[in-house]
Amino acid sequence: RKIENTNSEESPELQQLVRAFNQMVDRLDRTFEGQKHFVADASHELKTPLTVISSYTAMLKRWGRDDENVRNEAIEAIDKETSRLQSLIKSMLTLAEAEQEDWLNQEQFDVVQMLDETANMLQTTFQRPIRVKASAKVVRMYADKNKIRQLLVILLDNAIKYSKEPIDVTVLQIKNIVQIEVKDKGIGIPEADIPNLFERFFRVDGARARATGGVGLGLSIAKRIVDLHEGKIDVYSLPDVGTTITIQFRQKR
Ligand code: ADP
Repeated sequence: RKIENTNSEESPELQQLVRAFNQMVDRLDRTFEGQKHFVADASHELKTPLTVISSYTAMLKRWGRDDENVRNEAIEAIDKETSRLQSLIKSMLTLAEAEQEDWLNQEQFDVVQMLDETANMLQTTFQRPIRVKASAKVVRMYADKNKIRQLLVILLDNAIKYSKEPIDVTVLQIKNIVQIEVKDKGIGIPEADIPNLFERFFRVDGARARATGGVGLGLSIAKRIVDLHEGKIDVYSLPDVGTTITIQFRQKR
């Protein structure tokens, strides 16, 4: 509980202490509110597929033995919602891990090589061209390699999910800044939604994103990784034109 009005005749030290205490209470309140929201949102996200699964299970119990159509439809739906639950739980665990871990396992590596490897892997899996261009053959970064790879996978995965054309990735080194840009010619994001993109469970038009299998946690994880590296992430997007996400890191070495 905050301390209400202090007597203005109290010593300045005491008044300062009270102010500091109140600020700390405010911070704790905000963290606590955030956690409450997260639990509420997570429960909602987990309940939705479970409701679908239990409705189809009930249908199967009643009509499944006699009706092949019901059987097929139910199996399809249960299969889809189970995968959704799995990916939801996986993303929630990744986010919890990323939020808990405040240390970086930094090392020197070539980000162009990492991008080539990641692009190749995703290209093979999703059958989508990803073109990587770089300002130099080798662009060195001193950062947490695994986390940077995770961040790139999140951005590329979104570009693949929300567009149908080839994806362009550009790496630039300008003095001690390394900049990576992921550009797609996809459905884009309405301007009003851009400030909310990094919120946990946020999806532009829930129904549309749900159909693509998105759970709305990828960009929260991405932001956390960028923040841990004291970097910057920016989104430029136009509906029906495409989205460009830029990340920048200052090189310390
Ligand atoms: P999701 O798992 O739903 O993709 P994210 O946190 O990665 O979650 O992204 C949040 C939302 O931002 C997505 O649901 C989608 O609506 C929108 N979004 C993210 N990247 C793109 C993109 N490249 N093009 C269009 N929309 C995007």
